[in-house]
Amino acid sequence: MTLFEKIIAGDVPADIVYEDEWCVAFRDINPQAPTHVLIVPRKVIVNVAHATPDDALRMGKVLLAAGEVARQLGVDETGYRLVFNNGAGAGQTVFHMHCHLLAGRAFSWPPG
Ligand code: AMP
Repeated sequence: MTLFEKIIAGDVPADIVYEDEWCVAFRDINPQAPTHVLIVPRKVIVNVAHATPDDALRMGKVLLAAGEVARQLGVDETGYRLVFNNGAGAGQTVFHMHCHLLAGRAFSWPPG
């Protein structure tokens, strides 16, 4: 089981801010912004590179959930950044696809 499957199953505690049939969203344990939430599909997809056409709806639901989380946390008007780290070379450490939602501070571009 991935760490995030354990969180979804309730075996590892987390500060869950949103859940639906497809996704669970919880606060990152090591926040990189005042608001830092991870949106995770209930079914494991390792990362974007491992997604197949069968995952299309699931992946879309992750993005729709991110928008809903932003609205519910009141950061949709000020703007927020969504990040998918894909592979260890890009900083992925948990191999269960997740969308980072970051908000509440300034963000540079390019991201560095
Ligand atoms: P990534 O490096 O893109 O794979 O992101 C994994 C994220 O999971 C990191 O930002 C970690 O801080 C976060 N993380 C690790 N363990 C936990 C946990 N138990 N609860 C919440 N977030 C976690």
